[in-house]
Amino acid sequence: MIKRKGHFWFFFVLKEEENDVESVIKTERNKEMGRKKSMNFQTMLLHGKAVRKYSDGATLPPISQSNAFSYDSSEELEKVFQNRAPGYAYSRISNPTVDAFERRINELENGIGAVACSSGMSAVALSMLNILQAGDEVIAGSALFGGNLDLLHDLEAFGITVHFIPTVDTQEIEPFLNTKTKAVFGEVIGNPGLNVMDIQETASFLHERGIPLIVDSTTATPYLVRPIEFGADIVVHSSSKYINGGGNAISGIIIDSGKFAWDVNRYPGMRAYQRYGKYAYLAKLRNGIWRNMGGCLAPMNAYLNVTGMETLGIRMERICQNSLDLAEALCGMEGISVNYPLLKSSPYQKIAERQFHNKGGGILTIRAGTKERAYKLINALQYVKIATNIGDLRTLVIHPASTIYLHSSEEAKAAAGVYDDTIRVSVGIEDSEDLVNDFIRAVESL
Ligand SMILES: *Cc1c(COP(=O)(O)O)cnc(C)c1O
Repeated sequence: MIKRKGHFWFFFVLKEEENDVESVIKTERNKEMGRKKSMNFQTMLLHGKAVRKYSDGATLPPISQSNAFSYDSSEELEKVFQNRAPGYAYSRISNPTVDAFERRINELENGIGAVACSSGMSAVALSMLNILQAGDEVIAGSALFGGNLDLLHDLEAFGITVHFIPTVDTQEIEPFLNTKTKAVFGEVIGNPGLNVMDIQETASFLHERGIPLIVDSTTATPYLVRPIEFGADIVVHSSSKYINGGGNAISGIIIDSGKFAWDVNRYPGMRAYQRYGKYAYLAKLRNGIWRNMGGCLAPMNAYLNVTGMETLGIRMERICQNSLDLAEALCGMEGISVNYPLLKSSPYQKIAERQFHNKGGGILTIRAGTKERAYKLINALQYVKIATNIGDLRTLVIHPASTIYLHSSEEAKAAAGVYDDTIRVSVGIEDSEDLVNDFIRAVESL
């Protein structure tokens, strides 16, 4: 028990963070009232409160590649371990470079704290395992990223039942709710189904029933939406994608809104962390499953994420514009169909416009008619890479049915919006004209 009580120093960090968050909310309010204008997105990335003064005046956090952090006396290390003094002990538990990354993402998402993970999959898994135990049930979308679907099936071996629903909305959720339901999980924009969740409606419906909403906001990014402001309780990202932006580090992150009231009768594991108040979820995560599974982020990758994320705003602006240009140019073409949230043909156009302030994100899908035509189209493209990633600077394409969804049944693929003729396009920052012409040429060659 004494050992488990260690490593609570992050609590001090969070206390500071709390002030940060409150001041952001205050400036947000001032903005609404037309008084002092708060920072806009790209400015916050460079000058936000989470951007600290690093040693020697460095503008970026130093890469702290040290496993251990030493102290002058046993008494000092003891204090660090017992959360009576701030400091780092061991990089699996906390690290200054990783901490710099966590603070910046937390500020962007308006949370009370964030925990970085070795990958997006690690973040999704740990965000749920932190509150689940054998016998529990989860309700999840079926139009999810293939890795998320595989993971949810993996949970079944540990006694956790997952109910899949075609879209994460109140009507679909309701029939599966019972006393064993412990979480609802979905993607804000499904990858690659491009179904858009109404976060506010879903969250308020669940809160009335004492259930938290966990969202994977990888494809939306904080540039499109800050899910916590719409009521999401826990936000996860594969920061390998748009947040990193350059396709050079695998990582994930979990952000806590701090707003969900964890009922200890419903979540018995939370009992020991009740004394942390609104930090209970984070305290349990950091001192429990996250730390003990060892899913920590490497300091080098945290550094690459910090440098990468500083351009998230300008990249997303360009990526969203390129995606819309491409979707509009292709949607009238013969022999193919295009899916993009902002197109009139998308059932999610209205909610995308409203929730994302007229931005549609960086993914679109094309259906070419047959698998052969899809391959022919892909192979005819000049400025794209055929690769399994999203959120890179380069435009990437993939045929999901034969790759990411290799382990999924026909039924599961259809539910995820993945057909034999589907091509997923992760739009990059190339010049729009070149990209549009490249795709038009490829479609015409069919
Ligand atoms: C890529 C992705 C993940 C998994 O992230 P990794 O960093 O590859 O582990 C999870 N969710 C979504 C929506 C993704 O696109």
